[in-house]
Amino acid sequence: MDAGAGSCNACGAAGTALMKLSLGKDFFGRAYDRLSPSSDQSPKWYCEACSMQKNLQRDFRDIRAEFDKLTAGQTSELSNTDTFQRAALRLREIAAILEATSSQSPILAAPDVAQLIGRFQTTTMQA
Ligand SMILES: [Zn+2]
Repeated sequence: MDAGAGSCNACGAAGTALMKLSLGKDFFGRAYDRLSPSSDQSPKWYCEACSMQKNLQRDFRDIRAEFDKLTAGQTSELSNTDTFQRAALRLREIAAILEATSSQSPILAAPDVAQLIGRFQTTTMQA
């Protein structure tokens, strides 16, 4: 597949440098198998802005999934206080980056991030 001939899988930008997203570890340091042969049936290509946001989205989803487990009383990476704080900081960072982006992200919605930050704050107050 020729990266230069396609368009971004997220925003549709064409005629710009595209990169196949290569993700090694997720936010919690677990192996991320997106690029393993069995799970990578349809490689995706993203322009620079979208590949950056794709990384934010990946962290956001990981953190949200672990947070859902935590609030459901299940074993969660966020049971660790340090990890919880680190995730809370990362969410703020993601929100700040989204805020600094001029156009609406086709990948990650800022209100979703803001909502999760709010849930984090509520949980911190209960602890
Ligand atoms: Zn794009």
